Amino acid sequence: MKLFFSPDQLRHRPTQYGVHGRLVRPLENPDRAQTLTDTLGRLGLAAHEPADHGLAPILAVHADHYVEFLRTAFAEFTALPNAGPEVLPNVHPYAAGVAGLGARGRPRTTGILGRTGWYIGDLSCAMTEGTYAAAYASAQTAASAALDVAGGARASFALCRPPGHHAYVDRASGFCFFNNAAIAAQVLRSRFARVAILDFDTHHGDGTQAIFYARPDVLVASTHTDPSAYYPHYFGYAEERGEAEGDGFNLNVPLAFGSDDTAFTSAVGTLVDAVAAFGAEALVVSAGWDAHHADPLSKLAVTTPAYGAIAERIAGLGLPTVIVQEGGYSLEAVAEAAPLFTQRFVAGHR
Ligand SMILES: [Zn+2]
Repeated sequence: MKLFFSPDQLRHRPTQYGVHGRLVRPLENPDRAQTLTDTLGRLGLAAHEPADHGLAPILAVHADHYVEFLRTAFAEFTALPNAGPEVLPNVHPYAAGVAGLGARGRPRTTGILGRTGWYIGDLSCAMTEGTYAAAYASAQTAASAALDVAGGARASFALCRPPGHHAYVDRASGFCFFNNAAIAAQVLRSRFARVAILDFDTHHGDGTQAIFYARPDVLVASTHTDPSAYYPHYFGYAEERGEAEGDGFNLNVPLAFGSDDTAFTSAVGTLVDAVAAFGAEALVVSAGWDAHHADPLSKLAVTTPAYGAIAERIAGLGLPTVIVQEGGYSLEAVAEAAPLFTQRFVAGHR
């Protein structure tokens, strides 16, 4: 199994993250990628530099005007009078609370403040000078890993950072700018008719859900912490099943605060069964390690061995698989869970 990662992904180095009414140092930082390359490297997985596939795989998922905003926002924003060090929104449009929240078109405003509030959903996506380059490289990492599998490899690992599953067609949020898992799934669709995304990050992948909500060719199956008092708050409920042609092709299994290894592995088992019943020909795994009890964001009681158990269940599907890195903010938990998962996945994957 090849591991893909680009050092350009370290160029996103924000200093501000708004949470509980304070601006603090971001939990999503370059140290996470370093921990992953170190610990996965010890398994014998050397990082391969992704090829540059240009904007095509990104534009297959994201709106062109959103991509252009991300490319130009830092220069335009920091030219404002008395600008802060990073792009941060301070106004937001009213968004109708539809389950899909698909592409919303271009904002009518042309000013940088209005566009920032339109395209950046919350205070976890401060943009620095290197953010676009890092997000672009993270997307290329996903595309390269998916092309490896579309070309015949049995599995690949996309060490994506910044992560992706909260990014919408035209909105950054939850530390995410480009939806790497969606990009990987769309690349896999060039070879496979039915692709599934299985997401076990502890946050609901609301961006991924929205991107594929009306589509029957990509199943999105997620287990995550009950969003009624947890990020992303507005989506991730069990009754969100897809719409139009995509009705029945979205599955959410929310977990109550305090859920343990048994509940977590059982929920992943439910997702695995759904992927098999769907008849998926290829799989994208949105792999976050933040359900781990040691994670600063976790509300669950999941321990390291659970990641070995779910790896065996997922590997048992026997599908061509792209593992895409999402969240995980305790470096200690990441250093245990990610290599254990990877080792057990590779051992059980046929
Ligand atoms: Zn997460």
